[in-house]
Amino acid sequence: MTDTAPAPAAKKPRWTFQWKELYDEVIQSGLCTGCAGCVIACPHDVIGYRHEPGAYTPFHLEDELGAENCLHGEKGCTSCTRACPRFRNWETEADMHLHGRTRDDEEMSGIYSDILLVRASDDHVYETGQDGGLVSAMLIWLLENDVIDAALTSGVESLPDGSPGWKAVPMVATNAAEVLRGAGSRYTYSANTIAFDEAKERGLDRLALVGMSCQTSIAPVMWHRRVGKVSKPFKLNIGLLCSKSFDDSMFDELFGVKYGLRKEDIAKMNIKGVFQIWMKNGDYHEINLKECHAWTRTGCNHCPDFAAEHADISTGGIGNLTDWTLTIVRTEIGRAVIAGMIEDGVIETRPGDDDPAAVALMHRLATNSRKRWPDWATDEARVGIG
Ligand SMILES: Cc1cc2nc3c(=O)[nH]c(=O)nc-3n(C[C@H](O)[C@H](O)[C@H](O)COP(=O)(O)OP(=O)(O)OC[C@H]3O[C@@H](n4cnc5c(N)ncnc54)[C@H](O)[C@@H]3O)c2cc1C
Ligand code: SF4
Ligand code: SF4
Repeated sequence: MTDTAPAPAAKKPRWTFQWKELYDEVIQSGLCTGCAGCVIACPHDVIGYRHEPGAYTPFHLEDELGAENCLHGEKGCTSCTRACPRFRNWETEADMHLHGRTRDDEEMSGIYSDILLVRASDDHVYETGQDGGLVSAMLIWLLENDVIDAALTSGVESLPDGSPGWKAVPMVATNAAEVLRGAGSRYTYSANTIAFDEAKERGLDRLALVGMSCQTSIAPVMWHRRVGKVSKPFKLNIGLLCSKSFDDSMFDELFGVKYGLRKEDIAKMNIKGVFQIWMKNGDYHEINLKECHAWTRTGCNHCPDFAAEHADISTGGIGNLTDWTLTIVRTEIGRAVIAGMIEDGVIETRPGDDDPAAVALMHRLATNSRKRWPDWATDEARVGIG
């Protein structure tokens, strides 16, 4: 070797972190969102998850080493920390994987290439969707064009009389009818990731994941940290803008007890500055969001990501044109999907500039969410807020 020869590249330190570190740094510290990335990544199936009011958290199923340590982890298994989108440098790792760079100070809503307003061309899809129906139109288009085998989405529980209730539950959708059964927004948590196991059992191995911000960082983090087989089926990551989700107990404790609105009589909900509730009998109610804050799901308290910054396409319904889906296109594959849908005439689009208030509000809400990331945690998620 001569003096001028380049120094050998520093070897990447070995990733040795297991459940013990995840439990201590993410779950016990309060950073855990309940996204269930660790649950689906565990090759030994020793991470349980309660998809229940007041819970939405992972826990260890084996008790040899107590709740806080894992025998398989002690023997070298590291899959759970490789899948966790709140462990250590998750934000910069996912950014690097998707975009080859980290976000700048002013990119509070994450890195993106285009902002559009989109609505489904099909009237039924549009009317069934929450805003412009883009998410449902996209899933149907992906399925019908054989790009994916299934989508991991959220449906709702069935009530004893067979009618749909309001508890959000993860589901696998393989056709237009199933996609539309899950359309619209529930503002309680649904760890759609959990539906991965059913998809795997059914041999469906090209998947789109629909999820709130916390869930859409899972796949990019898994790819970056080379978790292996579990990360391969994720082909498209569709994000829902999100500033919080609520605990299911809000239906009974606030809507039911205080306002006499029985959840079985509710037809539709939305959040546009206030909690809007449409009843099956045609009545309409508004509830001040401040009243709902007490039911914020614990996993949302420290969440810094409003804009689903690691999705291929993020979607929301803010601004003046809320019957269109505000659509943030972030990646090459996201651009290709939107271009294909336009070409096939399944969506109508307008430039995001038609609703500057929506874009400004997104950046403002994204900034607010970043302030929730604690300053004792890694500082990357707070970049740009000083
Ligand atoms: C908890 C929550 C909070 C949100 N907060 C905001 C916000 O603050 N600002 C904003 O602009 N937009 C927010 N959204 C996104 C918005 O409500 C719409 O989902 C988005 O604009 C897409 O609309 P669409 O008509 O294209 O989707 P649709 O065609 O109606 O499809 C919606 C998709 O979301 C899935 N879904 C519904 N509820 C849940 C759930 N609880 N968990 C996981 N997946 C679910 C459905 O299964 C469906 O696949 C939120 C969504 C949720 C679920
Ligand atoms: S944030 Fe998600 S992956 Fe991380 S510990 Fe919580 S549930 Fe598991
Ligand atoms: S605020 Fe939304 S994205 Fe963040 S943890 Fe809560 S549900 Fe997930």
